Amino acid sequence: MTIQAAYNQAMAGQRTFSMDTASLRRHLHGSGIMPTRQRMEIAGVLLVRPQHLSADQILETLQKAGSAVSKATVYNTLNLFAKNGLVRPTKVEGERTLYDSNTENHAHFYNLDSGAITDIDAVLVHDLPPLPVGTEIAEIDLVIRIRNRRET
Ligand SMILES: [Zn+2]
Repeated sequence: MTIQAAYNQAMAGQRTFSMDTASLRRHLHGSGIMPTRQRMEIAGVLLVRPQHLSADQILETLQKAGSAVSKATVYNTLNLFAKNGLVRPTKVEGERTLYDSNTENHAHFYNLDSGAITDIDAVLVHDLPPLPVGTEIAEIDLVIRIRNRRET
């Protein structure tokens, strides 16, 4: 099952899904990435469900699980995953990059108070003005920053 198929299934009702090791390995191979042990470890944290994680969060999760993976390897691998279309780097606040395992065009709610990030359908931005002749949308990067309602 591809990430997207799994994601669609998750969105269709089942809120969680998991991708087994064999599927992950095929997914990396299919994206032109040699599934080394450390890449598989990182994929096993990030790519198993639709989510948004920073490199530090991935590193921390792996270290807690006893992995010897280095910070440099995590960054290099995330860059490789991004280059090969497995993840989408997203900046929701300042310079902090989050890696999004959902690579379909979609937008985000980002709650400034809680830090919660929610995927929303890109249908919101389907009413764009016409694109310049000869161009197509490569990526939609839209973050709608929200906050908890202030009492007056
Ligand atoms: Zn997202």
